[in-house]
Amino acid sequence: RPRVLSGIQPTSGSFHLGNYLGAVRQWVAQQDTHDAFYMVVDLHALTVVQDPEALRADSRVAAAQLLAAGLDPERCTVFIQSHVPEHAQLGWVLNCLTGFGEASRMTQFKDKSVKQGTDRTTVGLFTYPVLMAADILLYQSDAVPVGGDQRQHLELTRVLAERFNGRYGETFKVPDAFIVPETARITDLQDPALKMSKSSSTPKGIVNLLDEPKVSAKKIKSAVTDTDTVIRYDEENKPGVSNLLTIYAALTGATVADLEQRYEGKGYGALKTDLAEVYTEWATPFRDRTREYLDDPETLDSILAKGAEKARAVAAETLARVYERVGFLPAK
Ligand code: ATP
Ligand code: MG
Repeated sequence: RPRVLSGIQPTSGSFHLGNYLGAVRQWVAQQDTHDAFYMVVDLHALTVVQDPEALRADSRVAAAQLLAAGLDPERCTVFIQSHVPEHAQLGWVLNCLTGFGEASRMTQFKDKSVKQGTDRTTVGLFTYPVLMAADILLYQSDAVPVGGDQRQHLELTRVLAERFNGRYGETFKVPDAFIVPETARITDLQDPALKMSKSSSTPKGIVNLLDEPKVSAKKIKSAVTDTDTVIRYDEENKPGVSNLLTIYAALTGATVADLEQRYEGKGYGALKTDLAEVYTEWATPFRDRTREYLDDPETLDSILAKGAEKARAVAAETLARVYERVGFLPAK
């Protein structure tokens, strides 16, 4: 079976609809076709200021959501990144293989650092794509299911794998990004030019899966569209409506063409009201399941302990090979 690995940040507790449709949904599907590793990337969360107790709690909330979304610890490996120290260890080695200019070209870093200002931007945020490369390469992953915003980071991962292999001999599998084009970029409900984002969306622009569904329904109903009235998929001229159609199609299995036909001659209000209902029907059991996992922290922690053990077995093997290849003296 080919192997997949992916991760999600525990930041801010709740996942949003973009995380689910762009990434987590694919993870659930791939646990049956792949040898799958999925993790909560708490090391990555630390790239921006976190309250320690909140981070600890949010990591459990993230894991609970992964299980509630349908990841089954019997069929895939679910773990917390910091439970596997090899991530940070390989991260260092790859930092020393990455050009400063090369890292400086990562557009996500440029965007985030401009927003934060250089004094509040950490070196951790700068090297985060390199840590992400380590995450992926440790597991000899064939594919990495992510949203479209990660495409450039995946390209860096491939470059680093090839560079290491070229310099030290064949060590890493060179992975492919796995991006589902339809849901690669769910946009902010208030500003369809932006992706929906944990760290930068405004409260009204983001659909948090753990919010009261009523709250999310209201946001969907007040999503920014356009002054036209026709319900038609057109990313360029009607990005707001297109985003709603994308979400609707993804949650129901209908095609966008089906929806365009169904809503012919109807207004945006009808589309939004129906989508709010579709979303509520999906989110209600998801929230309930998440709460059930959170109500039983012992079971959750034992799932995560088992996951970390399985992950570590794979990661340790790769790291040992890397340490040997780069010339570290083995500890006796
Ligand atoms: P941040 O903005 O702070 O980076 P995030 O919203 O991007 O947070 P992550 O935990 O970084 O959340 O991403 C988890 C996964 O969700 C990644 O695979 C990412 O590509 C995907 N993803 C994030 N936002 C979207 C979106 N708007 N549409 C589709 N996929 C997304
Ligand atoms: Mg992100």
